Amino acid sequence: MNTTSLPLRIVVAGGGTAGWMTAAALARTLGPVAQVTLVESEQIGTIGVGESTIPPLVAYNCILGINEADFMRATQATFKLGINFENWRVPGESYFHSFGGTGKDHWSAGFQHFWLHAQTHGYDAPYGDYCLELKAAEASRFAHLPDDRMNYAYQLDSGLYARFLRRMAEADGTQRIEGRIAKVELDGDNGDIAALLLDGDRQIEGDLFIDCTGFRALLIEGALHVGYDDWTHWLPCDGAVAIQTSSVRPPVPYTRAIAHEAGWQWRIPLQHRQGNGIVYCSSFMDPDAALEKLLASVEGDRLVQPNPIRFRTGARRRQWHRNCVAVGLSGGFMEPLESTSIHLIQRAVLRILRMLPAGTVSPLDIAEFNDQQMTDMEQIRDFLILHYKATDRRDTPFWRHCAAMAVPDSLTHRMELFRQTGRVFRKNEELFAENSWVQVMMGQGITPQSHHPIAGKLRSDELNHLMTSLKHQVSRTVANLPDHAAYIARYCSAQEPV
Ligand code: FAD
Repeated sequence: MNTTSLPLRIVVAGGGTAGWMTAAALARTLGPVAQVTLVESEQIGTIGVGESTIPPLVAYNCILGINEADFMRATQATFKLGINFENWRVPGESYFHSFGGTGKDHWSAGFQHFWLHAQTHGYDAPYGDYCLELKAAEASRFAHLPDDRMNYAYQLDSGLYARFLRRMAEADGTQRIEGRIAKVELDGDNGDIAALLLDGDRQIEGDLFIDCTGFRALLIEGALHVGYDDWTHWLPCDGAVAIQTSSVRPPVPYTRAIAHEAGWQWRIPLQHRQGNGIVYCSSFMDPDAALEKLLASVEGDRLVQPNPIRFRTGARRRQWHRNCVAVGLSGGFMEPLESTSIHLIQRAVLRILRMLPAGTVSPLDIAEFNDQQMTDMEQIRDFLILHYKATDRRDTPFWRHCAAMAVPDSLTHRMELFRQTGRVFRKNEELFAENSWVQVMMGQGITPQSHHPIAGKLRSDELNHLMTSLKHQVSRTVANLPDHAAYIARYCSAQEPV
C-alpha cells in the first residue's frame, strides 16, 4: 500500500457491530485525514448476537465522545458487574467472575495470598465477600460512585449499538453504500486489494480495506487467503442458538453462564428484553437437542425465531495482510463465554489508529499489529480453555473429553503455578488481570497448596483489621447502593448523572 496523498481512502466492508465500531472510531478520530466509506448489505444482514461486554468498552465510548445515558437509552443497555458461572466445577455449584478487584493487593502479592493465609487462621468468609462488584451484583444494586468507582461494562442490544454508531459515523462524514460485494479486485502489480466490485457494476477503490464481513471473511480470506488456525481441539463447542424473550423480572447487573451436559447457556438481561442462547459441541449434542434444551429453559415470551449459528473456533493466521485488516468475526472467533469478541474489535480498531500508515505501509507495523492482536487472542483462548479443563465434572462424555484433552503449555504453566504457589502473573498488557484468573481458577476448583510468606508478616491484630475492615467496607457500600433497575430508569431519564 502506498498512500502519499490525503485523505486516506479507508473502505470498511461490512456493517455489523465490527463495521460500525470501526467506521465510527475512524471517522471521529481522523476527521479530514481519512475518507471513510462503509459498504453493507441489508439483504445479507448481520449475525444478530453479541450482547454482553467487558469494562474497556466504557473507555471506548469515552474516546468516541459518547454520552453514557444517550448510549444506554439507544441500546437498551444495563450495567454489568461480572458473570455468574453455574454448574461449571460441579452441577449445582456456582461462582462469580467479577470485574473489580478483590480486597487489597500488596505490591509483592495479590490479595488471594492474604485471604488464603487468613483461612488458616479461622477466617472463613468467601473470597468474593471482599469484592464490591461481586457483592453489588449479588444484591442487584448499582451506582456510579464518586470515590469508590465500580468497574463495570454493559449488556446491550448490539443491533441497536450498530445503529447508534452508524448515526455518529454518518454525521462525522462516513459514506454508507448499500450493496452486495460481488468481487474483490486485486492490484495486478503488488497483490494489494485495489477495489470492491458491487452488484450492478459499482466499484469502490481504496487505500486501506477493513474486512468486517463477519464469518464470510470475504477480503482477508476470500481474496488474500491468509489461512486459519483451528482451535477446536482446545475449545470444542461449534454450535449456538440464540433467542430473545420478554423480561420476566427486573434486570440484574450480570450475565449468567450456565454449563450443561455438552456446553453452556447464556442469559443476558437488557432493559427491554432478555437475550438467551445455548452453546454446544455437535460431537456430543445434536442441533435439534440443543434447540429443544434452549426452548425448554427460556422464560418469557419468545420475541423472535431462534437463530442457529455454526462456528469454528480459531484465528486468521494474519489479521493484517497487505492493505487489508480483519476486524470482528472475519479475524476469528472464540465462544462468548467471557464476552470478549466485541472487545477484540475495539482492540483492533484502536491498534489500527495507532499504527495508521503515513505514506508507504511498513511491514514492521503489520508484523507488530499481528503479533499484538494474536497475543490477545491466545491469552483469551487460554482463559476460556481454563473453564473447560479445570473442572471436577466427569458426568457426561463431553466433560470427560474436556478433562482428558491436552491444553496449551502456556495454560498448563499458569494452572500449575497457581496450584503450587497461588501466584498469577499478567504479561504483555493482558486483558484479564490477576484477580480474574484467581476467581476463575478457584471457582473451577484449583486450590493453591501454599501462599506468599509475606502474608504471615501480619500480626494477628493486623490480620483481623485487614480482613474485617475490608469486608465491612464492601458490605457498607453495597447497603447504600440503589437498586440496579431503578438506577437505570433514573439515569436514562435524567439529563445529568444521578
Ligand atoms: P456480522 O455481524 O456478521 O456482520 C457482517 C457484515 O458484513 C454485515 O453487515 C453483512 O451484511 C456484511 N456482508 C457480508 N458479506 C457481504 C457482502 N458480500 N456484501 C456486502 N456486505 C456483506 N460478542 C461479545 O462481545 N459478547 C457476546 O455476548 C457475544 N455473543 C455471541 C454469541 C454468539 C453465538 C456468536 C456467534 C457471537 C457472539 N459474539 C459476542 C460475537 C459478536 O456477535 C461479534 O463479534 C459481533 O457481532 C461482530 O460481528 P461482525 O460485525 O464481525 O459480523
